Amino acid sequence: MIEERQEATFIDEQVIIEALEAGKKYSPLAVREVISKSLELNGLSLEELAALLWVDDPELEHEVYTAARKIKEQIYGKRIVFFAPLYVSNHCVNNCKYCAYKIDNDYPRRRLSMDEIRREVKVIENMGHKRIALEAGEDPVNCPIEYITAAMKQIYDTASGNGTIRRINVNIAATTVEEYKMLKDAGVGTYVLFQETYHRDTYSKVHCGPKADYDWHTTAMDRAFAGGIDDVGMGVLYGLYDWRFETVALLMHAQYLDKTYGVGPHTISFPRLRPAYGMSLDNFPYIVNDNDFKRIVASLRLSVPYTGMILSTREEPFFREEVVALGISQISAGSMTGVGEYSGLDEKATSGAVDDRNTCGRPDTPQFDVGDHRSLDEIIYDLLPEGYIPSFCTACYRSGRTGENFMALAKTAHIHEMCQPNALLTFQEYLCDYASPATRQRAVPAMERALMDVVPENLRQECRNRLERIKAGERDLYF
Ligand code: SAM
Repeated sequence: MIEERQEATFIDEQVIIEALEAGKKYSPLAVREVISKSLELNGLSLEELAALLWVDDPELEHEVYTAARKIKEQIYGKRIVFFAPLYVSNHCVNNCKYCAYKIDNDYPRRRLSMDEIRREVKVIENMGHKRIALEAGEDPVNCPIEYITAAMKQIYDTASGNGTIRRINVNIAATTVEEYKMLKDAGVGTYVLFQETYHRDTYSKVHCGPKADYDWHTTAMDRAFAGGIDDVGMGVLYGLYDWRFETVALLMHAQYLDKTYGVGPHTISFPRLRPAYGMSLDNFPYIVNDNDFKRIVASLRLSVPYTGMILSTREEPFFREEVVALGISQISAGSMTGVGEYSGLDEKATSGAVDDRNTCGRPDTPQFDVGDHRSLDEIIYDLLPEGYIPSFCTACYRSGRTGENFMALAKTAHIHEMCQPNALLTFQEYLCDYASPATRQRAVPAMERALMDVVPENLRQECRNRLERIKAGERDLYF
């Protein structure tokens, strides 16, 4: 039986510092042994991860990247899962130094009505998305859990043509076991909560309000598990503190969850600090540069081979594609980070007389500035020549393949047998219902190539049959 209030003793700063010191001393030969070990797909220790994070020889760095690409392709093939965030409320009682939702930012706040949610969801569905990440600021009065679960019901109930949302991941503030049970009952896919920073001192410096309670925030996943949620997603907001410390701490947290609950995080996200209304990046001395960011992603790919890794539209297009190759398995696309921004609710209210990039001070003020403004279709068009296959699959969650069941399948690589055909089936739906003619044309050779990766032969044949059924009008076929 879990205590609601616990101390986050599983994050031990002394152990992190010692791992970083030990990792710093690894010779190139020892680093190469770590890289070889990672290819066995059993993960790495804190010290081994630290050794990768200290590499400064370009040749060794290249070897880390090569291993990351290899592991990614072995486990995930060339599939990339797509999703869109949906910001439903920017009411917030916190005053986090990095966030546009902070209480000190004085602009009219908005919480979407159920009717507005329906309108936003239709826009997202009309792009071709099947997955939503629901996002909200923390405010128990203006945005209570009952509102979040009602919003989830509205999202699942909203259809536009052939479009439906089949999985909702939820990113809301740390809460109680009781409220996690409510999220579970409402059909949450993954519960996502970013740690922001694992460093206690920094954590208390950048937060003010209920979120400033480090122990409450850091033990949220324990309460989520106690509430019956077995898919959780973690992340550090890179730019608040030293990136090597944060990355080792993140692995420490993941290993703790794995040891305690028999299942590690389902996903790790890599948010990196972006400019936002009411904050300046100049006030954050730990901003992570592109090269270090790539190292973080690749080193974690080697350390937790079976965990899904997510990159958001915070990153710019060209750089995003580079990072995807190093281990990312899910990306967001066509994202809007303001409340009501998909359907231009605020623009309508002001007769469309405003530039939608210049929203500061309006109710749909974005939580941060997006770096990749391409549409979903443009992103897919750009990724196809690189051999990637977009996936809108949500089959695991709907077939009960979550938590321990999912990890057991993933670790024996059997998941690959289902993921590849499911990616193709959902991509075919996208091509039939939403793709531009140019994307459709580019997809033909890509689909043929990807079909050859469906094994065994009888599964490939069945996949071909189902692709034809989709072309003939059937939807939501999966293995
Ligand atoms: N209110 C929830 C909480 O407290 O965790 C959800 C947070 S918010 C909707 C999602 C995430 O956006 C935050 O956890 C934070 O990591 C990230 N974020 C906030 N401000 C940001 C910024 N300026 N740049 C990049 N990411 C930011």
